[in-house]
Amino acid sequence: MKELSKPIPIVDLKAQYETIKEEVNAAIQQVLQHGQFILGPEVKVFEEEIAAYCGTQYAVGVASGTDALRLALLACGIGSGDEVITTPFTFVATAETIIQCGATPVFVDISPRTYNIDPRKIEEKISTRTKAILPVHLYGQAADIEPIMQLAREHNLKVIEDAAQALGAEYKGKKVGSIGDAGCLSFFPSKSLGAYGDGGMVVTSDTKIAETVDLLRKHGAKTSYYYDLIGFNSRLDTLQAAILSVKLKHLNNWTELRQSKAALYHQLLSKIDGIEPHFVEQFGRPSFNYYTIRVKDSKLNRDILREYLSSSTIQTIIYYPLSLHLQEAYKYLGFKQGDFPESEQAQKEVLSLPMYPEISTAQIQHVVSRIREFVGNS
Ligand SMILES: *Cc1c(COP(=O)(O)O)cnc(C)c1O
Repeated sequence: MKELSKPIPIVDLKAQYETIKEEVNAAIQQVLQHGQFILGPEVKVFEEEIAAYCGTQYAVGVASGTDALRLALLACGIGSGDEVITTPFTFVATAETIIQCGATPVFVDISPRTYNIDPRKIEEKISTRTKAILPVHLYGQAADIEPIMQLAREHNLKVIEDAAQALGAEYKGKKVGSIGDAGCLSFFPSKSLGAYGDGGMVVTSDTKIAETVDLLRKHGAKTSYYYDLIGFNSRLDTLQAAILSVKLKHLNNWTELRQSKAALYHQLLSKIDGIEPHFVEQFGRPSFNYYTIRVKDSKLNRDILREYLSSSTIQTIIYYPLSLHLQEAYKYLGFKQGDFPESEQAQKEVLSLPMYPEISTAQIQHVVSRIREFVGNS
C-alpha cells in the first residue's frame, strides 16, 4: 500500500490544513483586510466561542498556554512565599510559571494509570503556605478533580487546571478547564486545537479572575497608558484567533475521530504482552491529544522499541523522559531520586504513538503490527 510506504508522523498538521484550507485562507484574508492585528474583533468572537464550548462565563485570550498559567496564577493571588501543589510529571511550563510568580511548586506523585496527580497524596502536602492546587490533565485525560475540589474547599485553596493538552476532554460530563477556579488552554500547533503559531487562553466563571487576566495581558492598563497593575504583553493574535475560530467548528468531529482511533489502538494493543494501552478512567471522556502506551520495563525496553519504530519511519515521542523533580534547573528544590516513584517509573515506560484525526485505520494497524513484531522478537 502506497500510504504505508510514507512516514507516519506523531501529528500531521498539513493533512489537517488540506481539509480546511479554503476556510482558513478566507479567515486570514479578512484580518489582513481590516488590519486590527492586536485584540481585533476576531479575538472577542473566539473568546465567546471558547467560553460557550467550555461552559464558563469568560475566556481571555493570551499569547501562549504558558502565559495562561502564569496570568491565571497571578490573578488567583499567587505570589512570593506561597506554595502551589502540582505534579512533577508534566510539561515544564506547569512548574516554571509557579516559580516565576515567586511561589514554590510542591510536587505530589501521580496515579500510575492516568499519569495525573494522585488526589490521595495531596492532603499530607498541604501546609500553612499552600495557596493553590494545579492539576494537569495529561494527554487529554482528566485528572480526578472532584476530590481535589473537595480538598481545596476544605482548605480554602484555589484550583487552577492545566488543560493545555485536554481541550474537549470531559470529567463526569463537564469540560475540563471549567471545574476549577480557572482553566488554562494552549493552542500550540500540536495541541488538539492548534494555532499556526503560539496562543493560549484562560477560561473561568470568576469575574475578578477574568478581569485581572485581561488587565495583565495588556500591561495592566484598563485605559491605554494608565496602569492599574504591573502587567505583561501577552495577547492572543487576531490572526491566530481567526484561524482558531475556523478550527473550533471542527473540534467535536476531530475529537470523535481521535476517540475512535484510540479505541482501535486499544483493541489491537491489548493483546500484546508487555504493552499497556492508554488507560481510560470511568469518570472521564479523554480527548486523546496524545495516545500514550506503557511499555513495561520488566519485559521490554521502551527506548529500543522507539528506535525500532523509527527505523520503520514511525514517529513516536516520550512525554516526558525526565520528571521535573530530577531536572537540573529544579535541583534547588531539594528533591532526589526515589521521591516520586510512580513518576520515575512512568518516565521509563511511556511512549506516545502517532495520533491525529486524519490517521487511517491502515496506518494504525501498521504501527501496531510493528510493535507486535518487536515484542515477538524480544
Ligand atoms: C503545551 C503545554 C503547556 C504550555 O503551552 P504553550 O502554549 O506551549 O506555552 C503547559 N502545560 C502543558 C501540560 C502543556 O502540554
